[in-house]
Amino acid sequence: MFIPEIEKATRADIKKYQERQLPNILNYLNINSPFYARFFKEHGIHINRIKTLDGLTTIPPTTKDMLQNNNMDFLCVERGKIIDYITTSGTLGNPVTFTMTENDLERLAYNEYISFLCAGGSASDIYQLMVTMDRRFMAGLAYFSGIRKIGAGVVRVGPGNPELQFDSFLRVQPTSIVTVPSFIIKLIEFAEINRIDLNSTSVKKAICIGEAIRNNDFTLNTLGTRIKEKWNLQLFSTYASTEMGTAFTECGHGKGGHHHPEMIIVEFLDENEMPVKEGEAGEVTITNIGVEGMPLLRFKTGDICFHYTEVCNCGRTTMRLGPVIGRKKQMIKFKGTTLYPPVLYDILNDIEQIKNYIVEVSTSSLGTDNILLKLGVEYPSRELEKLIKDHFRARIRVAPFIEFWDVNEIQKIQFPHLNRKPITFIDNR
Ligand SMILES: [Zn+2]
Repeated sequence: MFIPEIEKATRADIKKYQERQLPNILNYLNINSPFYARFFKEHGIHINRIKTLDGLTTIPPTTKDMLQNNNMDFLCVERGKIIDYITTSGTLGNPVTFTMTENDLERLAYNEYISFLCAGGSASDIYQLMVTMDRRFMAGLAYFSGIRKIGAGVVRVGPGNPELQFDSFLRVQPTSIVTVPSFIIKLIEFAEINRIDLNSTSVKKAICIGEAIRNNDFTLNTLGTRIKEKWNLQLFSTYASTEMGTAFTECGHGKGGHHHPEMIIVEFLDENEMPVKEGEAGEVTITNIGVEGMPLLRFKTGDICFHYTEVCNCGRTTMRLGPVIGRKKQMIKFKGTTLYPPVLYDILNDIEQIKNYIVEVSTSSLGTDNILLKLGVEYPSRELEKLIKDHFRARIRVAPFIEFWDVNEIQKIQFPHLNRKPITFIDNR
């Protein structure tokens, strides 16, 4: 298996490597980015004095709001050099346009090349892509480019449509699928109805995107467990975003997504924008290396994660990222407990009678957070309500308010016009 040399280097050498990139990154932004040229001036930043990763932290972080409010001022190249236009999904507000040059597309392909190799990929694999290639989306295109670079096969089925997915299993005999893990549950349900033996299909691996399949200790969470019980797939977790232009993908040891230090500088910041220690959750904050179109400097992603630095058994020395425990803006303070929506999802996913759901948060008259769970169920009952509340009390000591809804009504709220991802969280605070 190919591992880039830098991913097996000592931590000191990785730091030195990244520090050698710093002058290029800062000079490039100062010359080409209207936003950062202004930003450096406003904050009195002398970029020539910044030569270390510690020095980098003297520059204030870039926020999602800055990016939304000054979108095109982040563009570093003339329009003629842009090949691909992308928008981010806009989970926290208006969508943001991103642009990719030819070099950015090549960089993205390399990123997915090393990521798929990290997840045990080889030229003899065939990947079934269950993600969209269009809709102004980066990921599908990125996966396709990386798979092509490995020399593996690919069948682009796109999201949804279990019937077409199974038809492609028979025709193409893929070895791996690339999908949101909750869709694997849909495939399992389809297989059960149609009496298909999943474990005798050609598919043995799943690259899981967009949703966590593990707990913080790397054991499988409810979603991961429910998949494994019915279908003995090797599951690989991956975390990526358009802003990062990079993926953190697990190796076969399943101990968090590996950092590719040649692609991105990563920091983990607390509420006061100070670095957290290992073992503490922090906001993932990134600086792109080698991005031409719209590079970002100390960009706060809003995702809260743990990170781990001990060497992995695969031979990589690079830092590993745990599952996203939540988004910073979605933090809920409920009856004296601080929690993030994913822990609620994990509990809801564990209850078979709940077909779909929406978590709604609002501010109570006392100024604290209220949680309302709108649950799509086929047979609502008092007993079911009690069962659900007991599940919550057992896991997080408190039980939110519950409303039973028609499954189709929830489905409609989850997928309004043009939405690529289901809405599961509504913040009315
Ligand atoms: Zn590893």
